[in-house]
Amino acid sequence: MAPLRRTLKRVFGLEDFRPGQEEVIRSAIEGRNTLAIMPTGAGKSLCYQLPALHLPGMTLVVSPLISLMKDQVDKLDGLGLDASQVNSTLTARESDESFDQIAREKAEFILTTPEQLADPEFLETLRGKTIDLFVIDEAHCVSQWGHDFRPTYLALGEARRVLGSPPLLALTATAPPAVIDDIVRQLDVPDLHIVNTGTFRPNLFYAVIATETDEDKRRHLARTLAETEGTGIVYTSTVKQVEETTEFVRSLGHSVARYHGQLGARERKDTQDRFMAGELRVIVATNAFGMGIDKPDIRFVVHYNMPGSLESYYQESGRAGRDGEPARCVLLYQRQDRRTQTFFLAGRYPKFDAIASVHRAMEQLRADSEPVTLEALQKTAEEVPKSKVRVVLAAMRDLDVVRQEDGRFALLKSGLKDHDLEAISKAYEERQRADREKLERMVLYAQTALCRWRVLLDYFGESVDWDNCTACDTCSRQHTAVVEAPVAKPDFSPEGIHLRESQQPRAPQLRKGDLLVVPVHGRGEVKAIDGDKVEMQFPDGAVRKFKRDFVTRAEPIPREEPPAA
Ligand code: ADP
Ligand code: MG
Repeated sequence: MAPLRRTLKRVFGLEDFRPGQEEVIRSAIEGRNTLAIMPTGAGKSLCYQLPALHLPGMTLVVSPLISLMKDQVDKLDGLGLDASQVNSTLTARESDESFDQIAREKAEFILTTPEQLADPEFLETLRGKTIDLFVIDEAHCVSQWGHDFRPTYLALGEARRVLGSPPLLALTATAPPAVIDDIVRQLDVPDLHIVNTGTFRPNLFYAVIATETDEDKRRHLARTLAETEGTGIVYTSTVKQVEETTEFVRSLGHSVARYHGQLGARERKDTQDRFMAGELRVIVATNAFGMGIDKPDIRFVVHYNMPGSLESYYQESGRAGRDGEPARCVLLYQRQDRRTQTFFLAGRYPKFDAIASVHRAMEQLRADSEPVTLEALQKTAEEVPKSKVRVVLAAMRDLDVVRQEDGRFALLKSGLKDHDLEAISKAYEERQRADREKLERMVLYAQTALCRWRVLLDYFGESVDWDNCTACDTCSRQHTAVVEAPVAKPDFSPEGIHLRESQQPRAPQLRKGDLLVVPVHGRGEVKAIDGDKVEMQFPDGAVRKFKRDFVTRAEPIPREEPPAA
């Protein structure tokens, strides 16, 4: 038996690799920089756990969630593997113990957070040790184009460099092309080897229910909960909505708890534990809940509000059905939700004022002659939220205004004028535009008369070779329509069988000048119609042809206004 399979069986007690695992594991052992894109539940952890046992040095694992680190350490301990964790919740004694293990290179695994890797003392402890794998879990967090950007992830590129650039293994469930580009750039791995096992998970049934009013939404939520078995998550987009919806679900007689970022650590931990243990039927949560949750038997994920992008949606809904058994992913769509998301977008990036403040703080601290620490900058530019300071610095670094060295920041260009700083805020406007595009794609998903999976997969750059996914509301409707249609003789034509007019759910009446949205390319204007093809022109002037099936009527982009209270 090959050595890898032997380890798989002996240490992990598993019979066979799942798709993608072996390729990722081999790539990591060979020392190549690797990105594994595998759906939730596919088994990404094994992809770093197994190589560690075939490499002489230590494996460093960075993950954003302290709450789950303990579980992971316990799991590794259970397999008889030495794992040390370093994070802000350890007692002084625990922390000393970990540092000692690491200093003596006794740990097979070091689990830590991006915050810790920004700490010079910790980096000093690691420097000079043999680290032969640098693992970044939830690697999409590194990308400002991603849906779950964490400013602290921006420090990882530098930390890896300080440690002598050990081979990188980045893991994520979602990485559309722009996110991959960002991973390559932020972590400086132009030679990245990408293993992508695809996004399609046939056990997840996707459905959208269009609702007009809140009342309507509640009714559909109640029905979905009544018709579905097992435990699940209801996601909402605001804390207030979590509170209201929790009460509503409770009034229906379900065992339910709430989860959002404004609750104390104690209540959150308690709720998570009860959910994991199967004591709760429903958890109502903001997107603060769920990353890294390894509960295999989640049977439904209902989105009470529409998220801002298909990545968020796929990541959140994808927490259902990790065990491979059927699960339902339901989006309750209301037009209003789009406005809420547009409002969120408006506050997401630093504005000119924040950029000017950070720049001023650098000049004040004389960062042009001597590099300064992040903390010092955060203190001096106190009017800017701490995490935004980091984001501003990353942008300045990309534009060669700032250089980062050993965790400090040097100002390369002082005396910048307002219009220079405006150029930086312009770069963010680009991002904001990209975010709007993402929102449009999410709306397209919600409104499409096409297969939901097709729209999802298309977004992630994957093509499909089936006509009917059998795992979404659209396809199951079509399926029934075909089965139930009277067996009357079909209209034959050179192209095949035509459905009768009434059975065709799509085929919008199109006219020249109509505004349409098409996946990947976004909005464009109809130039000509040619049979089942539509010729469209895009803002950059390009003209392309698409099948009618792929286009959806564009709605005007709404003005930014706060969501109704
Ligand atoms: P991910 O991080 O990709 O969401 P995990 O690494 O948490 O997924 O793994 C999900 C589950 O799949 C875990 O319970 C794990 O033990 C199991 N698993 C992983 N690889 C295999 C395999 N080759 N055979 C059987 N089970 C596996
Ligand atoms: Mg994982």
